[in-house]
Amino acid sequence: MTLNDLIQETAKIIASSKHVVALTGAGISVESGIPPFRGKGGLWEKFDPMEVGHIQSFMENPERVWRLLISGMKDILSEARPNAAQYGLARLESLGKLKTVITQNVDGLHQLAGSRDVIEFHGNFAWLRCLNCGARVKTVNVALKEMPPKCDCGGIYRPECVFFGESIPMQAMDRSQLAASSCDLMLVIGTSAVVQPAAFMPVIARQSGAVVIEINPEPTPLTQTTSKFLVQGKAGSIVKQIADEVERMMAIIN
Ligand code: NAD
Ligand code: ZN
Repeated sequence: MTLNDLIQETAKIIASSKHVVALTGAGISVESGIPPFRGKGGLWEKFDPMEVGHIQSFMENPERVWRLLISGMKDILSEARPNAAQYGLARLESLGKLKTVITQNVDGLHQLAGSRDVIEFHGNFAWLRCLNCGARVKTVNVALKEMPPKCDCGGIYRPECVFFGESIPMQAMDRSQLAASSCDLMLVIGTSAVVQPAAFMPVIARQSGAVVIEINPEPTPLTQTTSKFLVQGKAGSIVKQIADEVERMMAIIN
C-alpha cells in the first residue's frame, strides 16, 4: 500500500472506531524543535540518556545531570510550541473519536494544543520539587544562576518527571492500563517503543482486541509483532492528513 492508502485506511478505521487512544513519544515533538533520545539527531549521539537520565546519576551528581540534560531541556521547552501532530490529535478528540492521550513526553505540548485528557506517563517538566522540604516551584520561575538550582531551604530542586530507574506514578499507570485495555484502536506515534513499561501499553491494547497502528519514520519492535501496520513518515503531516480525512468522512456520515 502507498503512504496515501495507509493514511486513508487509518482514517477509515478511526471513523468506524468508538474509543481511540493515542500513545505518544518524543518523536511527536521533534517537529516542535525538541530532540528525541533515540533516532537521528537524538541526544543519544551526544551521551547515553539512560545513564545521565538515571535517578542514581542524579542523586550521585545532581550538578552534572542538571548541566548535561536538564538545563538544555529547560531552554528548549520554554520556547517549544505544538506542531500539526499535536493539533491533529486535539481535533480527533473534538470529533469525539480520541478519548485519551497517553504521553511519555514531559513537554506539555498536547495540553497546549488543546487535548483535554492527557496522561503524563513520565510526569512533566513544568514543575520542580525540592528534595529536602518538598516545596514545588514552576520551572520557568527558576533562574539557573547556580547549578543545581536550590530551594530557599538549601535543598536541591529536581524536575517532576520520572527518571530512568524510578517507577511510574501510580495514577498514571492505572489510568493508562485502563485506557489501553478499553480502547478499540490505539495510535502509537513517535515512540521507539523500547522504554518500559510504556511500550507495553500497545501490547495490552492488542491483547484486549484493539487494532494498533503506528506512525513513525522508522520501524520499531512493535512493527512486525503488535501493529496492524506502520504509517511511515513524520507525525506532523501524517496526523494532519488523517485528521482532515476523518473530519471529511464524519461530515459525510452526519
Ligand atoms: P525515543 O527518543 O526513544 O524515540 C523517538 C522516536 O521518534 C523514534 O522511534 C524516531 O524514529 C521517532 N521520530 C523521530 N522523528 C519523528 C517525527 N518527526 N515524527 C514521528 N516520529 C518521529 O522516544 P520515546 O520512545 O518517547 O522514549 C524516550 C523517553 O525520553 C521518553 O520516556 C520521554 O519521557 C523522554 N523524552 C521526552 C521528550 C519530550 O518531552 N519531548 C524528549 C526527549 C525524551
Ligand atoms: Zn526546600
